[in-house]
Amino acid sequence: MQGGRTYNIWTIGCQMNEADSRYLAARLESLGYSPAPRTRNADLVVVNTCVVRRQAEDKVYTRLRYLSQLKRERPDTVVALMGCLVGHKSDPSLPSKFPFVDVFLPPSDISPLIEFLRENEDTSALSSLERQHAARDAFMDGELPVPPTELGTTISAFVPVVLGCSHACTFCIIPYRRGTERSRPRKEIVNEVRRLADKGIREITLLGQIVDRYGLDLDPRTDLAALLSDVASIDDILRIRFLTSHPNWFTDRLLDTVAAGGKICPSVEIPVQAGNGEVLARMKRGYTVDDYRRLVGRIRARVPEVGISTDIIVGFPGETEEQFMDTYRLMDELQPDMIRIAKYSERPQTLASRHYPDDVPPEEKERRRVMLEALLADYLERRHCELQGRDVEVLVEARSRNGRWRGRTPQGKLVFFDEKCDLLGKLVRVKLDWTGAFSLIGTHRIPTPET
Ligand code: SF4
Repeated sequence: MQGGRTYNIWTIGCQMNEADSRYLAARLESLGYSPAPRTRNADLVVVNTCVVRRQAEDKVYTRLRYLSQLKRERPDTVVALMGCLVGHKSDPSLPSKFPFVDVFLPPSDISPLIEFLRENEDTSALSSLERQHAARDAFMDGELPVPPTELGTTISAFVPVVLGCSHACTFCIIPYRRGTERSRPRKEIVNEVRRLADKGIREITLLGQIVDRYGLDLDPRTDLAALLSDVASIDDILRIRFLTSHPNWFTDRLLDTVAAGGKICPSVEIPVQAGNGEVLARMKRGYTVDDYRRLVGRIRARVPEVGISTDIIVGFPGETEEQFMDTYRLMDELQPDMIRIAKYSERPQTLASRHYPDDVPPEEKERRRVMLEALLADYLERRHCELQGRDVEVLVEARSRNGRWRGRTPQGKLVFFDEKCDLLGKLVRVKLDWTGAFSLIGTHRIPTPET
């Protein structure tokens, strides 16, 4: 009998993995499983993996060593391995590499696990809900990306809208692990968001490896601007975000949709990866530094209050000091609201691993990372100082451990404030009293009509 059985999911990596794990949790809970806070006590243990960087993969292997020991001690525990380590075409050598794993799941596809549970559990005791689910296995088919046990305490959800990627940036393993680009049907996404709103979700983040390519592969063709407008028409959804955009696909139509404001946040995540033309060409990103500079100028001219985030890889093969300094100078010039900095990590299968030796020493990569981080902290601290005394709109996400409410501005900046009454999921105005580079603290003072 499945009632009373417990699951534990360990997740590492990007928001897409987080979304995959929450879909899986939701499906397991609909089958009668409940969350176990500790792996050791769970009947079913899932490891949702990331291999985008060596460091993430190393953490996965550490986790797997622990699970192999756990399986020896508790052979009845079901162990499932999920995500990019498995890949979209399951590697036939996986079962011999990980003999303690019972089932392997590609990214965004839980059907092998559901099938395994059906085959290995007492099927006569399946719940009626499970019997309904037995007719369909597809991951995105009808399940909400929020487990029922989280409803009432969470107000944000990630909704994948484009799966996979058909680009071939030379450093990136994702197309080899998540497969080619596939957009989900617009109607399916809108229905899902509608059901999320009914369950108390107030903020939606639409996800895709290149989210601004949404719909270009669908028949009839559509686009992200149309999807954003659909989602914005849903009552009770207060804010909508989307990530990650690619500079080559950020259209004027999309920019107009963001500029129109309303529920769509003035927040754009648009990775540049490097600020030197030769490095960008070897990365095969498909744009120049000037193209990127012009795009940022265009976005800021149209949406002056926008918050822009970018990604940078330091120490790409062959990156000289001067080439890195081009990146440093570009960041100093554009001063995005966030820079996610990664040290280059050679990944199997990628074009870079086959053609370019990983020749920037680790200590040099670290030096470059620290330089960019210091630059970011320095200009953000100065910029945020100017916000002191000003009011910002905050969507309240949770109470933090110290009792303060935590939320974000439309641009995605983290804000903390004190307030006794329950404000979860409300839009409030907060006067900023203290500002740092990465968080802001203020006073809740002018409740908006929604509160
Ligand atoms: S656009 Fe490039 S970096 Fe992004 S997922 Fe696709 S291949 Fe990777």
